[in-house]
Amino acid sequence: MKNVSIKKSLGIHVAGRPAPSVEDGPAVSSVAALPDHIPLIKPRLLVKKGDAVNIGSPLFEDKKKPWIRFLSPGGGTVTDIEYGHRRAITRIVIETGETEEHEAFEPVDEKAAKGMDRDQVIDAMAVRGLWPLVRSLPYRTIAAPDEKPASLWVCLDPADPFQVPSTVYLKGNEPLFVSGIRILERLGVPVYVCESEQVPVESPDIRAIITHRTAGPYPAEDPGVVLYHTKKSAVENRAWFMNGQDVLLLAEGMASGRYPISRIMAVSASGNGSPAVNRCVKTRLGAPLASLLPDPETARGRRWITGGLFRGQTAEPDGFMGFYETSLLLIEDAADPELFGFLKPGARKPTASRTFLYALHKKEFTAKADMRGEERACINCGKCEQVCPVDIMVQFAYKCVYAEEIEEALMHGLLDCVECGLCTYVCPAKIELAEALKTTRRAYYEDRI
Ligand code: SF4
Ligand code: SF4
Repeated sequence: MKNVSIKKSLGIHVAGRPAPSVEDGPAVSSVAALPDHIPLIKPRLLVKKGDAVNIGSPLFEDKKKPWIRFLSPGGGTVTDIEYGHRRAITRIVIETGETEEHEAFEPVDEKAAKGMDRDQVIDAMAVRGLWPLVRSLPYRTIAAPDEKPASLWVCLDPADPFQVPSTVYLKGNEPLFVSGIRILERLGVPVYVCESEQVPVESPDIRAIITHRTAGPYPAEDPGVVLYHTKKSAVENRAWFMNGQDVLLLAEGMASGRYPISRIMAVSASGNGSPAVNRCVKTRLGAPLASLLPDPETARGRRWITGGLFRGQTAEPDGFMGFYETSLLLIEDAADPELFGFLKPGARKPTASRTFLYALHKKEFTAKADMRGEERACINCGKCEQVCPVDIMVQFAYKCVYAEEIEEALMHGLLDCVECGLCTYVCPAKIELAEALKTTRRAYYEDRI
C-alpha cells in the first residue's frame, strides 16, 4: 500500500459533523431530478408534464452525448418541469404513486460481469443510468467511454468535512463494495482504492483491495489531490474517479436489474450540536431536502447548502437532492455587519492568519455565511498559494484568468485545481478565486469539445 501525505492545506475545525450512525428517513410523496446540478452537460428532456414514469425511466439526456441518460428517481407522474436562466431545465418533479413501478433491466451478477468485456460493461452501465457515476479528471465531467485514462480512483472518504463517512455507508455492504470494484476492473483501467488514515477500514475483504492511504487535512482524500501527488508523467493527468458510495450503487444496480435510488445523506447544522440534527439519513435519490430534517425549526434563519461546505451550493428549503449530492448543511446566515468588528479580539472568529485571538487555540468553530468584508483588490499576501494542496500559484493563475490569458493560466496549473475552495476561504481580499478558476476551466473544456 502506498502512503500519500498532504502537507499544504488548512486544518479546519468546524462544529456539527454528522454522527456516524444511520437513521431511516420518512417516506416522501415527491422526488425530483435537477439537471442544472450536473456540470458540463446540455440536458434534453425526454418527458413532458403529465407523463407517467417508472423508477428507472429515462428523464433527460445530454444533447451532445445522447448515450448519457439520467433516469427517473421515482415512479408516478411528472407534475412539474421548471426552467431557469436561458431556459435551462432546473427541476423535473415526480409525484410518486402509492405503489411505484420499476423499469426492469437484465440482472448482471458477479459471475456474469466477469465474462463481460469493457464495451459490454460500459453499455450495461449506460442503459441502467449508472455511467454518469464515473467521472473524469481534470474537468470532473462524466467520463467519455472512448477515453483511455491511466487510472480509476475510488477514494473511500469524501474529502469535504460534512459528508457520509465510509464507516457508515460500508457497514454491512462490504461484499457489495468488493463486487462493484470487480465490475470497475472490467473497464480495463487500473483501479486504485484509497482509504483515509483518519478512517481506517476494518473489513479484511476491503483491506485486501486498498492500494493507497491518504494522510493530511481536507482535501487530502480528493481523487484529484491523490492523483497530483502520485502521478509521474503528464500522461497520467487523465484519470477517472468514482465516489465510494457510488460503487455500492453500481454493484446494486447491476445485480438487481433495477435503477438504485437508495442514498445515505449527511445532515448537519453547524453550531447546533443536537445529535438529532447532525446525523446520517437513509433516504432516496431526489428526496425533498425538508424531509431530511426532524424539525423545521432547526432550519429557521439558516442557509441551506447541498454538496458540501466548500464545494456545495445554496439550496432553497423547498429544494431536492441532486444526483451527486450526499450532504445537506445548515449554517447560520450572514448577520448585519459588526460595527468596528475588526477591533474586537475575536476569540471565536476563525482566522487563517493571526488577525483574531482564535489563532491561539483553533478550537471547533461554528460555520457562518458571514463574509466579514467585501471583495477588494489582491494585496499579494500569498495566503492562497500557501494552502493550495496542488501547488498552484493561485494569485497568478487568477490574474491570468482575469486578463483572459488562458494559456498562461494553464501554465500556472489551472487544470490541476481540485475545486477545494480553500484559496477563497483564506483570501483576505474576499476574492472568489476558486469559482473564477472553475468557471474558466469549464469554459475551456466547452471550447474544446
Ligand atoms: S486553486 Fe484554490 S480551489 Fe483550486 S486546488 Fe488550489 S486552493 Fe483549491
Ligand atoms: S490570498 Fe487573496 S489577496 Fe492574498 S495573494 Fe491570494 S488572491 Fe491576493
